[in-house]
Formats: sequence, C-alpha cells, structure tokens
Amino acid sequence: MFEKEKICKNCGRVGKGKSKVRGTLSMEFSLWILGLVLLILPPLGVLVLIFALFYSLYRLVAPRAVVCPSCELENSMIPLDSPVGQKLLQESEGEKNN
Ligand SMILES: [Zn+2]
Repeated sequence: MFEKEKICKNCGRVGKGKSKVRGTLSMEFSLWILGLVLLILPPLGVLVLIFALFYSLYRLVAPRAVVCPSCELENSMIPLDSPVGQKLLQESEGEKNN
C-alpha cells in the first residue's frame, strides 16, 4: 500500500514511519531461557515459561508501533501534507538555511 511521506515532529526527519514490534527480542529470549533454566525449581520455572509465552503472544498480536526512522520516538511521525506537517517542514528548512 502506498504510504505518504511523513515528518517527525521531534527531529524533523522526512520519510516514512518505521513499524516496530513492541517489546524486544532479547527480552523474549531471556524469558524463555530463564524459564527453561528455572525448570529445576518446578513452580517458578513453569510460571516464568507461562509469562514468556504471554510475552511472545503479546509481541505477535500487539499492533506495531510506528516510530521515526531517525530518533525511534513513537507516534512522532505526522503526514507531511497536513498543516502541522507543512509548518514543521518550513521550520526545519529554515534551520538549514541559517
Ligand atoms: Zn524523529
């Protein structure tokens, strides 16, 4: 699907928003490892594995966050053809000229 150019209201970057999966892979991975290691302590290991499972599911089903490709701030990208976007563009171009 065609996506319009956007501008970041935080850093002024023009481009397309980047979709990012919520949470981190390293966190997910650590939870699974921790759960497997803790299986030597049955109640705890199972609890951590259940938590890891929910975390993995959450990452699969949660809507992806749209972040700026430069500063990675969430929900900072606004359409370039909106009045606010135009204003930001003029401001960022003004800064370059100074
Ligand atoms: Zn930005």
